[in-house]
Amino acid sequence: SKRGRLDRFICTKLQISRKEVRLLLLAGRVEVDSVIVTQMDRLVDEFSRISVDSRLLQANTPSYLMLHKPVGVVSATRDEQHKTALDLLCGIDKTHMHIAGRLDLNSSGLLLITNDGRWSAALTSPEHKVDKVYLVTLENPLTCDYVAAFAEGMYFGFEDITTAPAKLEILGEHLARVTLSEGKYHQIKRMFGRFRNPVLALHRLSIGDISLDPGLAPGESRELTATEIGAIY
Ligand code: URA
Repeated sequence: SKRGRLDRFICTKLQISRKEVRLLLLAGRVEVDSVIVTQMDRLVDEFSRISVDSRLLQANTPSYLMLHKPVGVVSATRDEQHKTALDLLCGIDKTHMHIAGRLDLNSSGLLLITNDGRWSAALTSPEHKVDKVYLVTLENPLTCDYVAAFAEGMYFGFEDITTAPAKLEILGEHLARVTLSEGKYHQIKRMFGRFRNPVLALHRLSIGDISLDPGLAPGESRELTATEIGAIY
């Protein structure tokens, strides 16, 4: 997502001065996406293919994956204690790969992982209000007043926020489907906390039009289809 100046990129990558980079550019030794570029302030991003002479400095292809996150795996790229979602992906280039919308350590379900910062920003930005759907298993029986409380929104003094209207559907005595258009810290657990009803299991079924592929066992992943990728923008 981060666009930056070409001369900056080369300075940092090759550890040479701005002046040296200028000379490389003027000599026609720099290519961006197979075209010679001489302009110092040309903007590049993480998917620009950049080379000096025949040396490749950067070549990333956009990558979009869904992972069935198992319980006990942390939604991070690095962690001292636990296995991370990224650790579960093998045989792929993990440069710039990051998680678009985290899940708690003990939650499971759909996790989207990409190296495309613009795509993940669209997915997680509060303005876009992408619906996230969760299956929630509760310790105590559900009652109808939950539905109204979720629809109304709840005030949390700690952050001084009121949650946006959320949909709660009662699927069974201890089972609910919850649809959120935002993702505050531990939001679902805290909302059920208002009823002193502990969440025993939390599983994400979908993010926007992207649903967890039922063919994926916990820990398994697959690439998104073009339709799924396109559904976000
Ligand atoms: N709400 C939570 O409390 N945890 C999650 O992982 C997602 C939503």
